[in-house]
Amino acid sequence: MYDIGIIGGGTAGMTAAIYGQRAGKKVIIFESMTYGGQITTSPKVENYPGIASVSGSEFATNLLEQAMSLGAETELEKVTGIVEKNGVKVILAGGSEFPCKTVIIATGVTHRHLGVRREEKLIGAGVSYCATCDGAFFKNREVAVVGGGNTALQDAAFLSNYCKKVYLVHRRDEFRGESGLVKPLEEKDNVEFVLDCVVKEIKGEDVVEGIIVQNKKTGEEQEIPVAGIFVAVGQIPQNQEFEEVVRLDGDGFILASEDCMTSKPGVFVAGDCRTKDVRQLTTAAADGAVAALAACSYLDRILK
Ligand code: NAP
Repeated sequence: MYDIGIIGGGTAGMTAAIYGQRAGKKVIIFESMTYGGQITTSPKVENYPGIASVSGSEFATNLLEQAMSLGAETELEKVTGIVEKNGVKVILAGGSEFPCKTVIIATGVTHRHLGVRREEKLIGAGVSYCATCDGAFFKNREVAVVGGGNTALQDAAFLSNYCKKVYLVHRRDEFRGESGLVKPLEEKDNVEFVLDCVVKEIKGEDVVEGIIVQNKKTGEEQEIPVAGIFVAVGQIPQNQEFEEVVRLDGDGFILASEDCMTSKPGVFVAGDCRTKDVRQLTTAAADGAVAALAACSYLDRILK
């Protein structure tokens, strides 16, 4: 029997494991793909306090080693559900059952991709899903941001501070994001809106050299030379397996506030898979700590 079963071995999940083990609890982490989650695809992390620069994969490896050196167990299996048996939460993974007194769901999100030619091939070579993580590598270069939500608007504003030019490509002529974020962009000399347009193709064999956009109203195509393309067309949570266990919002994120408590006692949530505005490495780590300490408190006070 484990004290804390953590579903997801990204930054949130591994931070929760570190806090859980340090509090003397028996912890197991389940990961279906790669320990480290989203950050492993980032060539460099330069916005984590106290670490000036580190590659995403090194950051993830350090986290995993830290959690394991403290005694956390790991299981490289996809979790297919959580059931309750005799008051104990049982995590189902790889055809086996893992009884846990508490559970922390930290499954993260995947970024929605555009699904255009060369997008997957050029990830890390000009295609990025995180302006905050990768934007600094495009200082004085021309870049495109794709999307019309708050993330795209914020990304465009962020990049406009040091990129030579930012093209904001959106498929409609109205932004989904807040108008308060649109106005300052309209006033920037180095930001150009490319509206009613979809990206048809990314140009470049080894690195991004440009994009071809098509106007949805006129059908006209245009090539825009850019060194980077920041895709901000929404995020997809991975919570389908848990919709019978905890309450989700309309977009599939687990409902919880800063206390990381879900609708189900003994089940906590950490990181990008919960309802929140800011999804960053630092906030994932913060959630991991909060959820683990909440789980410890639940173990010590409720299940004592
Ligand atoms: P979002 O609000 O879902 O916006 C996604 C945008 O991408 C939409 O403009 C959508 O166009 C466009 N899009 C979707 N699929 C596309 C495709 N295949 N090709 C081209 N464009 C596509 O996502 P988000 O901006 O990541 O925001 C997610 C949530 O976090 C939102 O609730 C947002 O408010 C919140 N958030 C809040 C803050 C904040 O500071 N408060 C900051 C960032 C995010 P349509 O508009 O035409 O559908």
